[in-house]
Amino acid sequence: MTTHVWDYLPEYEKERADLLDAVETVFSSGQLVLGKSVRGFEEDFAAYHGVRHCTGVDNGTNAVKLALQALGVGPGDEVITVSNTAAPTVVAIEGTGARAVFVDVHEADYLMDTAQVEAAVTPRTKALLPVHLYGQCVDMAPLEAIAARHGLAIVEDCAQAHGARHHGRLSGTMGDAAAFSFYPTKVLGAYGDGGAVVTDDDATDAALRRLRYYGMEKTYYVVRSPGHNSRLDEVQAEILRRKLTRLDTYVEGRREIARRYEEGLGDLVAPDGLRLPVTSPGNEHVYYVYVVRHPRRDEIIERLKRHDIALNISYPWPVHTMTGFAHLGYATGSLPVTEAAAAEIFSLPMYPSLPVDVQDRVISALQDVIGEF
Ligand SMILES: *Cc1c(COP(=O)(O)O)cnc(C)c1O
Repeated sequence: MTTHVWDYLPEYEKERADLLDAVETVFSSGQLVLGKSVRGFEEDFAAYHGVRHCTGVDNGTNAVKLALQALGVGPGDEVITVSNTAAPTVVAIEGTGARAVFVDVHEADYLMDTAQVEAAVTPRTKALLPVHLYGQCVDMAPLEAIAARHGLAIVEDCAQAHGARHHGRLSGTMGDAAAFSFYPTKVLGAYGDGGAVVTDDDATDAALRRLRYYGMEKTYYVVRSPGHNSRLDEVQAEILRRKLTRLDTYVEGRREIARRYEEGLGDLVAPDGLRLPVTSPGNEHVYYVYVVRHPRRDEIIERLKRHDIALNISYPWPVHTMTGFAHLGYATGSLPVTEAAAAEIFSLPMYPSLPVDVQDRVISALQDVIGEF
C-alpha cells in the first residue's frame, strides 16, 4: 500500500470517542454559531499562549488577512514577507488590497533572511509578515528592531508553527498579532477549516471581532467596512478545544519521528547530497513538515514511487514565479535562494500517528535509492 505524507485516520481511530462527543456537545448546546465552544476555545488558546486575546476565524488565510486589516493595512500599503511560503500568505496580503514585497530566505533553514528586510522598507511599508515555516520561527530580534525604527506592525504567520518556541518565547507571542490556521494537516488541526488571531492589544482584538462579523459592533449595526463573515465554526472550535489539550503530545510525537529520521538517514548527509532539516539557534522545532534536500530530488521521488512511498514538496513553485502573482513584477532569478531550494526540497511523511513501520520503510527506501547514486 502506498504510504501517505499525511493521514488523519489513525488519529481519528484513537480519538474518535472524544471527537464525536465534541460534536454532540455542540449539537445539543442550543447555539450553533459563536456559542460556548468558540468562546471557550478562544480563552483556552489565548491562555496557552499567555496572551490577552484570541479571535477564532474561519481559516488561516483570513486570519492573516483580518490581522493585517485590524492593524490598519489596506490598499496602497506594502507588506514585507517571503516568497518561500504557502501561497495563502500572499493571497491574504492581496486580499487587503496591499502589495506583497518579498525578501529571500536563508540557505540553512529556508526562513526569512532578516538582513534583507530593512532595504525593502519604503514609505508605503506598513507591516512585516514573517512566516514561521515548516515548524520553526523566524529570527525575530532584527525584525523587532526594524519595526520599531520605521513604525511598522509585525504579524506572525504561525500556520505551521503551533507550539514552536524561539528563545523560549512561543510562536504567536512575538508580534502585534499572530495568525494561525487549523487546516486539518496543521500541527493543531481541525476536522475541517478553522483559524485564529491572537494579540495582546485590546483595540486590535476589538477590530478583529468586528471584521469577522460583517464589520458589526453589535448585531445588525455595521461600523466598519469592508467587513467579512469569517467566524470560526462552533463544531470545529469544540474539536480544537479538545485537541489543544493534546497539542504538546502531538508536538512530542513529531519530534520523535524527526529524531528517528535523523538517526536513520544521518549517514547519507553530504554537502552535495542529502541535507536534513537544521534547527536554527534558539528554536524549538515542531516539524509541521520534515523538509529534506537533494540535488537529484526529482529522480528520488520517481524511484520512491516504486517503493510505494509518496512524498510531498512544500513548495514546488516559489510564490513570485506563479502566473497569479506576475503583476508583482518579480523576475525568475530575483530570489535565488528561494528558487534553488524549490528545485531540490521534498518532505518526508510526518504526522504524530505515523506508524513506526512506515517510518522504517521510508528510511530504508531512501537508503536504497540514494545509496545507488
Ligand atoms: C496553511 C497556511 C495558511 C493558510 O491557512 P488556511 O487555513 O489553509 O487558509 C497560511 N500560511 C501558511 C504558512 C500556511 O501553511
